[in-house]
Amino acid sequence: MLKYNFSAGPCVLPQEVLKKAADAVLNFNDLSILEISHRSKDFIGVMDKAQALALEHLGLTGKGYSALYLGGGASMQFLMVAYNLLEKKAAYLNTGTWSDKAIKEARLFGEVQVVASSKESNYNYIPKDYTVPDDVDYFHFQTNNTIFGTQLQNTPDVNVPLICDMSSDIMSRQRDFEKYDLIYAGAQKNMGPAGATLVIVKDEILGKVSRQIPSMLNYKVHIEKESMFNTPPVFPIYATMLTLEWLKDNGGIDWIEKINNQKADMVYGEIDRNPLFTGFVKDKEDRSKMNATFSLHDESLTERFNAMVKEAGINGLNGHRSVGGYRASMYNALSVESVQTLVDTMKELERTA
Ligand SMILES: *Cc1c(COP(=O)(O)O)cnc(C)c1O
Repeated sequence: MLKYNFSAGPCVLPQEVLKKAADAVLNFNDLSILEISHRSKDFIGVMDKAQALALEHLGLTGKGYSALYLGGGASMQFLMVAYNLLEKKAAYLNTGTWSDKAIKEARLFGEVQVVASSKESNYNYIPKDYTVPDDVDYFHFQTNNTIFGTQLQNTPDVNVPLICDMSSDIMSRQRDFEKYDLIYAGAQKNMGPAGATLVIVKDEILGKVSRQIPSMLNYKVHIEKESMFNTPPVFPIYATMLTLEWLKDNGGIDWIEKINNQKADMVYGEIDRNPLFTGFVKDKEDRSKMNATFSLHDESLTERFNAMVKEAGINGLNGHRSVGGYRASMYNALSVESVQTLVDTMKELERTA
């Protein structure tokens, strides 16, 4: 039996997707998906579908956006965003390690104003009291902080282009997606295997910086070439397409959001109820529905709890080294049954401790 996979990324994927992807490795229209040309009609069909499904799920079809699947991970987007959009000055919200890394890259291209940061308290909350000046080229932030387990609930109200790293909560919940000018997400957190990064960009924001942009880093070039300027990551895009189809067949983001809320309620309910555990994020409003961070009050129970977790068949529950404790990542494909198993294990520790 497969383990209950709470890993923060690469993520758990639907069984149905794994089966179809495995079948396609052996035979995809009489070749292996690993062998087909990215210029073949079959793969062009996959790319078109993967792009169309991403826009459709987010309600952005026909609204002036392009969808790209690029290499280089979300980390590449830290610099591509600034390369393509930062002329003089940009505003950034610092809510975690990934924000910090995005800020570092952006500083290579222009002035960066960090409008607020929760770094001083190891990022255990989302700053809310800040203003974004009207004279910046854009405002950049993360919706979900994978490492610390915080999540922005509302879309910031600003008068400048909104640029967002949604790597770890894309396709997990509704947002006012039309308010965003560029959304990017590494596929491996909630959509597929590692290797492809989804970039959704509003065409009208491009072409405004004066610098020369190398072709591979230029969104316009990738849009003109329909995300095939160079050989795209064929298999990760195929698997992502399958996941987006699975999501659509079951009822889309509205459907998964209800299940994600249920899973988060189960885990946080137990963290709050069980006297042995404490949550890392104190303000309930800031708690991530994707990554729940928590720890044991009494560290001497660590070995026993770890053994119970292992015995229950739970994988990937260790917290990131910068937070410690535990992190339950509850991405779209993680079943309610997996979460129930974790909750039961926490209860069992309380009963036997
Ligand atoms: C994992 C992660 C990244 C980095 O993604 P790579 O694809 O490994 O570059 C960036 N931002 C967030 C929010 C993440 O969770």
